[in-house]
Amino acid sequence: MKKSMCITYVVEGKLYLNITNKCSNRCEFCIRNNGDGAYGSDSLWLEREPTREEILDSVFSHDLSAFPELVFCGYGEPTYRLDDAVYIAKRVKEKHPDIKIRINTNGHSDLINGRKTAPEYEGAFDIVSISLNTPSAERYQQICHSVFGESAHGALLAFAGKVKSYVPTVCLSAVKETLTPEEIELCKQISADLGVNLRLRDYIPPES
Ligand code: SF4
Repeated sequence: MKKSMCITYVVEGKLYLNITNKCSNRCEFCIRNNGDGAYGSDSLWLEREPTREEILDSVFSHDLSAFPELVFCGYGEPTYRLDDAVYIAKRVKEKHPDIKIRINTNGHSDLINGRKTAPEYEGAFDIVSISLNTPSAERYQQICHSVFGESAHGALLAFAGKVKSYVPTVCLSAVKETLTPEEIELCKQISADLGVNLRLRDYIPPES
């Protein structure tokens, strides 16, 4: 496995941040199973977690006026560094109030941090995108292998329901190719019941 200090990378005109490789899941469809990087980036396996200053230096080394959106994503679960992500997002917003800031998360923020985290997202993130993956807690555990077991699915739903009070946009996401038509309908129902959007995305195949 090649390692680097690739903290920022560009995907479809958006600036992505890679701040940790820690994750509470081992999803079978994770892009990390495909190689060391994503979308032509350098390796996203970090030599070590970057400091706040290193992350801000990397972000501000780009012309942010060229990016409509900044995305905390990773090669890992960014809420393992929620305090740092909130700090960085707020520093970026001070200088660039118009840039949209999104966090892509597995929704285990409360379990990972051991507290009710939803209020902390206010003023830092414009969009919270939570991986739903499947409508069933049992199936979630079969394909995502969470360290939190079958409670992980219920926790992400509860988090989605809470965080929508603190950020403008919350969406649940799932990989289309991994779901049956019936499961897609159930995902739509869950999203509607929670009052959040559903984003059905394509599977990202291994880079050749
Ligand atoms: S939660 Fe995300 S980063 Fe973690 S294993 Fe699943 S797809 Fe990969």
